[in-house]
This record gives sequence, structure tokens and C-alpha cells, in this order.
Amino acid sequence: MKVAIGQSQVTSHGGLELELGINGNQRLKERTLMLSSEIAQAGESFYSHGWLFGTSGNLSAVISHKPMLLAITGSGLDKGHLSSEQVIVIDEGMKVIGGEYKPSAETALHIALVSELSCGAVFHTHSVWSTIISQVHEKDSGIWIEGFEMLKALNGVKSHEHREWIPILKNSQDMNALAGELKVLLKENPNIHGFMLSGHGLYTWGRDPQEAKRHVEGLEFLLEVQGRIDSLKVM
Ligand SMILES: [Zn+2]
Repeated sequence: MKVAIGQSQVTSHGGLELELGINGNQRLKERTLMLSSEIAQAGESFYSHGWLFGTSGNLSAVISHKPMLLAITGSGLDKGHLSSEQVIVIDEGMKVIGGEYKPSAETALHIALVSELSCGAVFHTHSVWSTIISQVHEKDSGIWIEGFEMLKALNGVKSHEHREWIPILKNSQDMNALAGELKVLLKENPNIHGFMLSGHGLYTWGRDPQEAKRHVEGLEFLLEVQGRIDSLKVM
């Protein structure tokens, strides 16, 4: 994985320069390369935890809000061995502006989250525990998690006494319909830090890739803790 902002990476995003008409805009170009590198590093980390196996999941970061430009992992790629060049640039209509890969269908949910929340990054994982818990609690439309110190990994949470609601949407292959349901869910639950698709996985976000990564780690930890506690109760 390349992490340095080198000439070869600039060249690899040459299509971005041409189509965006940002020749000479070194700041935007360097921001794109920096975010691509951060996404690739997060992918490698999450894969090592078993949260992105089998080319699953997708990670995005906002290059610009107006016009909306997202750096996002291309579809069908091994997230454990991503290079910066495998992170593509798309606009609000999911048109590929830079890069040689296709966006995943789930990109529609990233765009919905960024447009509704004005967040700076959206990370989506497919862990074992989020898959199990979202399936088991789909009938409740979500799960409450409370009483754990790790809740303080979530932005704005100062105490283990916090009560966090993680809503669950029924999974679907119709991403446009899901994006519509997601916008309603976000309006009804303005204080959430993430949500799950049943039998599928977790979406969370942050002001930047670092905060989104912290939220993935915190929520995945909490979901595993809750899942293990619930398993003990069953036994
Ligand atoms: Zn997914």
C-alpha cells in the first residue's frame, strides 16, 4: 500500500484532474490523495479485525461538500490489500470522476448520509457480530446499548451512563429505496452515531476518517460485547 503522496499517485488520478477541471489546484489534489491513503489504511485495519472479509463493505471520505465529491472504495475489491489507486472519486450522482473502478450499489447510502449529515467520512463494515445482532433485533427496529466505558468512543459521549440507540433497517438490494428509508430514519433519530442493515452490517460516520474509524472500532466493540452477553443469557 502506498501512503506517501507521490508523483505516481498524482498521475494515477490524472483523470480526476482533467474531468474536474482542477489543473493547478494542488490543494484539492493532495486532499484526494491523502483521503485515499487514509481509506486504504482503514480498510487494511478493519480487514485485519475480520470486519471486511470477502470484498465486503465500503469506505468513503468527503473531498468537497459543494459540489459533493467523495473518495470511495471501488466495488468488489479486497479491502485488506487496498492501494490508494483503488479508491475512486464520484460526484453526487454516483458518476465516476476519477479512477478506474465502479462504485458499489451501496454508494447511494454514503451519498444519503453525507447529504443529510454533512459528515466528512462514512465507513460500512460487515462484521460477524453486527450481522448477528442486526438479524436478531430486526423485529425491535434497533438495539439499545448502555453502561459501557467504550461508549465514550462516540462523539459527544462523556460517560458510561450514556444510552445509545442503534437503529436497524430491513436489508434490501434496492439501494435507492433504502436511501429513502435512511433519510427518514436520520430525521427521526438525530443523535445516533450509526445504524445497521439486518443480517448485513454496520454504517457509521464522522467529521473525518479518523473519527469514523474510532466510531467503527467503538461500535464494533460494543456490538460484540452486547452479543456475547446476550449469548451467555441464552445459555
Ligand atoms: Zn454492505
